[in-house]
Amino acid sequence: MGLLEDRHGRIAHDLRLSLIDKCNLRCTYCMPAEGLDWLKKNEMLTADEAVRIADIGVRLLGIREVRFTGGEPLVRRDLEHIIGSLHQAHPNLPMSITTNGIGLEKRIDDLVAAGLQRINVSLDTICPETFAKMTRRQRLPQVLRGLEGAKEAGLHLVKINAVLMNGINDDQAAELLEWCLDQGFQLRFIEQMPLDADHGWTRDGMVTAERMRELLSEKFTLAPHTEPRGSAPAQLWDVFPGASDPSSHPLGQVGIIASVTEPFCQSCSRTRITADGKIRSCLFSHEETDLLTAIRSDASDEEIAEIWQAAMWVKPKAHGQDTVGLDTPEFVQPDRSMSAIGG
Ligand code: SAM
Ligand code: SF4
Repeated sequence: MGLLEDRHGRIAHDLRLSLIDKCNLRCTYCMPAEGLDWLKKNEMLTADEAVRIADIGVRLLGIREVRFTGGEPLVRRDLEHIIGSLHQAHPNLPMSITTNGIGLEKRIDDLVAAGLQRINVSLDTICPETFAKMTRRQRLPQVLRGLEGAKEAGLHLVKINAVLMNGINDDQAAELLEWCLDQGFQLRFIEQMPLDADHGWTRDGMVTAERMRELLSEKFTLAPHTEPRGSAPAQLWDVFPGASDPSSHPLGQVGIIASVTEPFCQSCSRTRITADGKIRSCLFSHEETDLLTAIRSDASDEEIAEIWQAAMWVKPKAHGQDTVGLDTPEFVQPDRSMSAIGG
């Protein structure tokens, strides 16, 4: 039928589908200590609705890849069913999840059997005290067990997402990289974005990509990875031990996602659907388009696709707006926090 194009010449072929707003952690950069006003069950996409949306995206709108997220997608007991149904309809569609890993070890085999191919696990530290401070929960052992399970399930490349916070875990960046290289995981550091429910983010308080590279160079030498980045959010760096010669064989790669200081909006290929069925053309959008009402009326697949296309056509140029960026004082944080949008 067409593609999800926008006025600025970008095409979205990568769907981030949020399945739930709830979570079993309370990361300070994402959620408030007491949680949020959760969506009611009847406000959330059912498994069939989530599968129908993804199917329309793939069949009619050129979606090539689906990532399930949240909140915490593993909190949904029907995640295996959702992945399995979509896999049945589109056996070659790459599907992945972004998860905090809690409970993963018990479900990973069923998820892989259902058709899951890739997984990103969020882990900001391997120090139990820092983990408890950052997530407001003592659950590091569960996350590590989940990661072990993912490794044993033989998934191709497990990626770790880590947010660095000044004075909290920034001094552990090199240690976390060392651990990930050792375990065979690909670590990606993410700049903290103004999407926390507490609205505590400040430009001066965040750890920039430049600072991340400095912190890592205390223990490693980094050299830009040569493969083209395409629309990937992470800039990849080859990692060499100590102050070694970067012409030797790298220990592995590390990714840096510099959404604030080195934005990549120009090559953005993402479209987002929230757990309550709203289209968000950008993480930082102030506008959303309701798809759930159409899904629950007798709208045809083509009509739903048209609503989606129209919502994406007006995707803002950068950071939710056409004129200002995250790095400017005029930037206004969206009402929804990261967990309620789907990261
Ligand atoms: N609960 C799952 C998890 O943590 O992986 C999936 C949802 S979470 C919102 C998705 C990703 O967003 C995580 O990697 C998390 O670290 C990241 N994230 C959350 N809030 C953020 C913020 N304010 N800035 C940057 N990344 C953030
Ligand atoms: Fe939950 Fe993920 Fe947000 Fe942490 S980042 S509170 S694990 S949704």
